Amino acid sequence: MKPLYYFVTLCMLFTLTACGQSQPKKSKASKNSTMENVIQKPENPYYSNTDTAKLTLTDAEWKKVLPPDLYEVARHADTERAFTGAMWKSETKGTYYCAACGNKLFRSNQKFVSSCGWPSFFEQDNPKSIWFRPDNSYGMQRVEALCSRCDSHLGHLFDDGPEPTGKRYCMNAVSLDFVPDAAEIAAQQKTLVFGGGCFWCMEAVFSEMHGVTKVTSGYAGGTVENPSYEEVCTGRTGAAEVIEIVYNPNETNLDELYQVFFTLHDPTTLNRQGADVGTQYRSVIFYQNEDEKKEAQSLIDELNYKHVYPNKIVTTLEPLKKFWPAENYHQGYFKNNKDKPYCQLVVRPKVEKFEKVFKNWKKNKEAH
Ligand SMILES: [Zn+2]
Repeated sequence: MKPLYYFVTLCMLFTLTACGQSQPKKSKASKNSTMENVIQKPENPYYSNTDTAKLTLTDAEWKKVLPPDLYEVARHADTERAFTGAMWKSETKGTYYCAACGNKLFRSNQKFVSSCGWPSFFEQDNPKSIWFRPDNSYGMQRVEALCSRCDSHLGHLFDDGPEPTGKRYCMNAVSLDFVPDAAEIAAQQKTLVFGGGCFWCMEAVFSEMHGVTKVTSGYAGGTVENPSYEEVCTGRTGAAEVIEIVYNPNETNLDELYQVFFTLHDPTTLNRQGADVGTQYRSVIFYQNEDEKKEAQSLIDELNYKHVYPNKIVTTLEPLKKFWPAENYHQGYFKNNKDKPYCQLVVRPKVEKFEKVFKNWKKNKEAH
């Protein structure tokens, strides 16, 4: 296709379908995804948090599916070094599973912080989930604790634990998977609000990113309380099309989110992204605290200094007063309207660019 013809065709499509045009009011609320507190391990086909059927595998079969450190502990009763990882002192509410097979072993309210440096519990969640046998290795008389589903070595059982049982399940952290309760996950979540042109694009891209648990299209800034899409489209409210990202700070951070933000839109065009023109499409970060502001400013300074873009960055940093979610039909727009020309021509390339440039930050589909 000749460049000029291609350009004209693109312009026509933009005119017909640009974000500012009103869309059919086919209301389609975004699916309310409930967090599944179940771990997926594609490399380990025997792993399941729900299947309790006994597993009898050979050493060679285990070796193929377990990471080397877990394999040594689970199959050769190796002991990890004390104080490795944070699990021994963690008091987060949640469930502990066998890292080899997914069998449910403990709840956090059965755990206590022991000075021994290994995760310690005074009781197992289910009397059948762990079994025991004498262990006379290393000249000691100990009781070995093993997973009842897969017979993996977990650790040892001692009689010096706290009441009410007086037991101490001394476990290797590598043998345990921990899944925090939904309420704990929610309490840890942070939000970030920014706009980089049409919110359909931004929402589609950030929905793919690891650590991002929810993305909502909406409006922020301006003078009108809870503006409608039509009002925002006039460009006279001062509001911008933005997205509110809910993210887990244990999985991603401001730096990563800002990097994706600055890569996936053009922060150098004032009040404009491609064919979408108006202050509602301005490049803007609505910061909620000094950290968000400082980190954004330092990345902008760095990008300007390194001349990453031929022109100066015009992204504004504005304090967030309020975020208003957009009408339902805007939520999950790309997902629900993939065949529309705007989605094909404008949104999809951005999603593909994200998948290419930030391959390592893409959400693991299997886990969601
Ligand atoms: Zn197991």
